Amino acid sequence: MARPIVGITCSLRPAKDGAGAAFLLPRAYCNAVEAAGGVPVLLPAGAAPDAARVLDRLDALILSGGVDVAPARYGRQPHPALGDVDAERDELEIALARAALASGFPLLAICRGIQVLNVAAGGTLIQDLPAERPSSISHRQSDQSIPRSLPSHAIVVDPGSRLAELAGASRLDVNSFHHQALDDVAPCLIVTARAEDGVVEAVEAPGRRFTVGVQFHPEETAPNDATSRRLFEALVASA
Ligand code: MN
Repeated sequence: MARPIVGITCSLRPAKDGAGAAFLLPRAYCNAVEAAGGVPVLLPAGAAPDAARVLDRLDALILSGGVDVAPARYGRQPHPALGDVDAERDELEIALARAALASGFPLLAICRGIQVLNVAAGGTLIQDLPAERPSSISHRQSDQSIPRSLPSHAIVVDPGSRLAELAGASRLDVNSFHHQALDDVAPCLIVTARAEDGVVEAVEAPGRRFTVGVQFHPEETAPNDATSRRLFEALVASA
């Protein structure tokens, strides 16, 4: 069988120091897709998205990590601690997420991706965890100088979920690089994992081939963690 083509959205680095704007994606995403048997293809924002046609050319989709989603997308005013936003990226990714949900297209949504997926399906976000949901758990391990490839907090996984099936466990240690999280969860999604402070760490859309969102970054831990690898393998296998 031909290797499935996996589209991956990417970030925009604005023009600076005389260099033009550039699209960026941490190589770990491509490495994880290739290791799982897929062929990665980058999807830059910018042109008016024809999401359904883009998905027609792909076998699976990854919504990758990045800046905050504009709060207007979920009907809220910006919080003072809101970070950078990218209107073109919101436009592309929300269109892709809606098209993927509508057709049951295989989707793995990572970090910003789980947030985009929730907003695309009608949910809302907590704009800044430290300000709005103070907790003893740090969800930004870079503040503690913990490397991206290492876990920093535990999550408790719903035993009936796809994630639990892949992990073979109901408790996992994951990495964490987010200051936002899901607030109201969209009606078509179910929460399948939470951190011990209640923060949503994974969702799934039941009844579809593979629609999984995770707030952590499995692409960073895939080289050393079987569950992280299995997330990419399951995405590619469902393509
Ligand atoms: Mn976290």
